[in-house]
Amino acid sequence: FTGKTGTELVSDKIKKLKVREYYSVPVVVNDQVSVYDAICSMFLEDVGTLFVVDKQSLLIGVLSRKDLLRASMGQQELHEIPVHIIMTRLPKIKYCEKDDLLIDASLKLIENQIDALPVIAKRESGLEVVGRLTKTNVTKAFVELVKSEEV
Ligand code: ADP
Repeated sequence: FTGKTGTELVSDKIKKLKVREYYSVPVVVNDQVSVYDAICSMFLEDVGTLFVVDKQSLLIGVLSRKDLLRASMGQQELHEIPVHIIMTRLPKIKYCEKDDLLIDASLKLIENQIDALPVIAKRESGLEVVGRLTKTNVTKAFVELVKSEEV
């Protein structure tokens, strides 16, 4: 008997979960695409956050639903404005890596009040986008943890 309380045991389990077990496929757009095309991608791919990449597929920005809504509210021509004008850009982007703990990535989501983190792999030339970690992924981890106890 370890002498640990129920809460400590649950906490120990949570602290072992890694981003790599729960992340999703990322949806990326090039920085030259229009706001209009980004809106279409967001709908067609059924995601809430798009990652903006350069020609070498390296991360340069993030687009949320509200970023696109805000751009749509102005009297602007959505076919003409490229997404790099309205995106949140590096170095402001919060990200995680596959080997990070899910709890650390979750803290980043909460503390920065954002819905998703790009999962990246560090390259000499920059940050390669390899995945997407969202609040939904964290919710799924939470549910799976409980289900794994049920026989
Ligand atoms: P929404 O704006 O649709 O509510 P978010 O809460 O995810 O969605 O985004 C809030 C703001 O934070 C947006 O301007 C967005 O560009 C930015 N943002 C989203 N994800 C990140 C991230 N991983 N790192 C930095 N900024 C982000």
